[in-house]
Amino acid sequence: MIFDRRLVLMITHKDGSKYINVNMIFRQITLYVLLFFLSLVFFIIISIGVFRSEIADINARTSLIEERNETMMLGNAILNDEINQRLEEIAIASDKIDNLEGVIGVDNTPNENLLERIDVASITGAQKAFFMKFIPNGYPLETFSGITDPYGTRFHPVLRVVRQHTGTDFGARIGTGVFATADGVVDWADSGWNGGYGKLVKITHSFGFKTYYAHLNEIIVKSGTFVKKGQLIARTGNSGVSTGPHLHYEVRFLEQPINPMNFVQWDMKNFDSIFQKERSIAWQSLLTTINNLMD
Ligand SMILES: [Zn+2]
Repeated sequence: MIFDRRLVLMITHKDGSKYINVNMIFRQITLYVLLFFLSLVFFIIISIGVFRSEIADINARTSLIEERNETMMLGNAILNDEINQRLEEIAIASDKIDNLEGVIGVDNTPNENLLERIDVASITGAQKAFFMKFIPNGYPLETFSGITDPYGTRFHPVLRVVRQHTGTDFGARIGTGVFATADGVVDWADSGWNGGYGKLVKITHSFGFKTYYAHLNEIIVKSGTFVKKGQLIARTGNSGVSTGPHLHYEVRFLEQPINPMNFVQWDMKNFDSIFQKERSIAWQSLLTTINNLMD
């Protein structure tokens, strides 16, 4: 028998003997087991692939929804802004109507533009200088690194809400000089919490204007003191609700915050800009008042 290295069973029967090759059977079993595992692995790989693509699909859809949501929120904020602007115009228009009622019979110019047009060409140099002295203009601080948060309604990316920012934030190193942006009187100089403003100086200017200087480190002026434009009043800090050293600067007219940047960028060279940019103020009426004062 030459079945070398093979296990062979020999079964002896009364009619003769039979050989069974055991190796053959083992080989077949091994083959089946191997095939089973191979198809299992194949199935798992296919399943993982399917799951992965489904997860990617879900992620893509989620981010699309988030994007749409954000766009809608932004659109909402813009619409709100527009509504506010229209309301402002309506308020100005109704003011004008009130004025017209007062002078009815004297002034009967029909179809007058309700948003008043100021006669810029007639303003003299002396009048301009008067404006620049008494109405907030120019930068409220020595140097700054950039505007860290602008004025206005904006969609807060972290808080996911539309919020109103009543001033302009200038990033500045602690101790940077802060200056009065027009002549006025200090009506608030307080080193307390001030509702999150931190160390705060408020200046009341002529003709209904006010300026706020917040999150200060050091206050130099006292409440009740008269200050000149460009006078050092404080030094910047990081007090109150603040996420970093900066100056929060506000310009208010009749207590209502208005966009400070219109005033910050206002100077002798672009004197007319303010009349286009800040339309909530009856400039022509103010000009008449100033003319009377200067007579
Ligand atoms: Zn601020």
